[in-house]
Amino acid sequence: SVYLDYNATAPMRPAALKAMEEALHSVGNASSIHHQGRDAAGRVDQSRRFLADLLNCSASEIIFTSGATEANNLALQAAYAEGGLIVTSAVEHPAVLEVARALTSEIPGSLSVLPVDRLGQIDLEAFTESLQRYDVTLVSLMLANNETGVITDLRPVVEAAHAVGALVHTDATQYVGKLPVDLEELDVDLLSLSAHKFGGPQGVGALFIRRGIRLSQRPLVFGGGHERGWRAGTLNVPGIVGLGAAAEAANHRLLDEASRIAKLRDLLEGELLARLPGSYVNSSRAPRLPGVASITFPGAPADAILASMPGVAASDGSACSAGAPSPSHVLVAMGLSREDADATIRFSLGHSTTEQEIRRAVVAAVRAVTHVQALMNATAG
Ligand code: PLP
Repeated sequence: SVYLDYNATAPMRPAALKAMEEALHSVGNASSIHHQGRDAAGRVDQSRRFLADLLNCSASEIIFTSGATEANNLALQAAYAEGGLIVTSAVEHPAVLEVARALTSEIPGSLSVLPVDRLGQIDLEAFTESLQRYDVTLVSLMLANNETGVITDLRPVVEAAHAVGALVHTDATQYVGKLPVDLEELDVDLLSLSAHKFGGPQGVGALFIRRGIRLSQRPLVFGGGHERGWRAGTLNVPGIVGLGAAAEAANHRLLDEASRIAKLRDLLEGELLARLPGSYVNSSRAPRLPGVASITFPGAPADAILASMPGVAASDGSACSAGAPSPSHVLVAMGLSREDADATIRFSLGHSTTEQEIRRAVVAAVRAVTHVQALMNATAG
């Protein structure tokens, strides 16, 4: 079948598979001082450097975690220790929104959730205003949205936040490995990412912590003080190695891959819109990731469309909150009606997607949507 659900999880890059297999065949705890331990530590160090190269930061600013959810939890907790106000947005992933809600739940008014416009972009004016009115300690805004691919222009945000002494965290889970990240230029204090979104394994990620920033050093997991005290527990050497190899492979071909994928995305959107009148692409006029197409097919519930095209793996809303009966909080925040939010499919493409797959997906999706729309019309009539 055609796999177009890269934002849920991407297939492993061959280089990551190979590196992991090698790591799995060797023994050694990265904390041990014998030869095998040093070998494992060497692999971890190399992965840290590969990731630092991808992000343009120092290897010593990277903490490996179990994924972006943990990285977000760690970042927000460490940055918010002194209280104050957290500013975030209505379209964040639950791995930020729920953490922010939990941290601020005891103090009324200590969380500000910024609205977004019809394109899914935050209002910079509303943001700067909230900075002036309150004692903001932490701003957490995602670099790219998982459902629409919309990219946040973080530079003015960081500048304004730093001017009032607030720290800035970004959930860059969907952005890293897809478009270049330059942490020196971006100037955020904390950045979360996850290996399985760019061709590494599931269950491993990282948090960038800028050197010298003020945080409460309170880990989520206490124990042997690994990762400079931020995250105790024997390191997941094969996972970290897979992350590093995927980062290196992505880094080699970042821009070529991005433009190839964007062309395929445009082909998919163009064909579907031409053949299915009334359908529309969400956020098409906003800066977006190359590989995401969020398309609404009014009158056709997404779950019925997906059931009618078993040969295409795509997603209704975000797979991360799959099973939740409510419509996507992202699309609703953008002003889509519940019906339209429920009639939206997210196709996400990536490093292994081919033109032939896109053409097959178009045929399947046109057939499925037409079928579901006819069915809905018949039952309505
Ligand atoms: N943040 C965003 C924007 C995501 O898309 C995801 C993916 O599901 C996550 C966080 C959670 O990542 P992980 O699966 O590594 O915990």
